[in-house]
Amino acid sequence: GEKVETDLNQLADEYLRLSYHGLRAKDKSFTADFKLHADPNLPKIPVIHQDIGRVLLNLINNGFYAAAEKKNQLKEAKDPLAESFIPKVTVETKALKNSVEISIEDNGPGIPAEIQSKIFQPFFTTKPTGKGTGLGLSMSYEIITKGHGGKLSVSSKPGLFTKFIITIPQV
Ligand code: ADP
Ligand code: MG
Repeated sequence: GEKVETDLNQLADEYLRLSYHGLRAKDKSFTADFKLHADPNLPKIPVIHQDIGRVLLNLINNGFYAAAEKKNQLKEAKDPLAESFIPKVTVETKALKNSVEISIEDNGPGIPAEIQSKIFQPFFTTKPTGKGTGLGLSMSYEIITKGHGGKLSVSSKPGLFTKFIITIPQV
């Protein structure tokens, strides 16, 4: 693929819907909220569509999976909050000085500090066999850093949220 000047608000919107509808198609009982906070002043930036699409799809799928997992955990613990808990993924775009930031946040179980350093390694997964390859984050990291000269980082509060932050330079 080659780099094309892209409206990342539009790409984020497209992949949020794609992810949500894809998960619903696989599992009729899957429900979640999702929201895009799009910066109206986001500049177009050159990206490889297919690659950034893969990154967004993986991060958003991970977010929905984690948030749904939290609901299951509450149910299994017979927590009275289980019924009212709504899995949620929020994507936000922001124009920074010389770059564009896209964050993907979920209200899932979070990532324990001791495994945060491992999640970008190829084949690291905590998902049951068949549910995950452990390749999504390592591939995303390569695409953002090597492919686009950007950054990919994670911030999480176990029990509360996980937020992945992508930064891509404007040129
Ligand atoms: P996979 O999704 O196939 O497991 P990834 O590379 O996408 O592979 O993610 C690796 C691991 O990082 C996951 O198995 C999970 O343990 C952790 N992880 C990734 N995203 C999240 C998230 N949003 N919330 C909690 N854990 C996460
Ligand atoms: Mg994944």
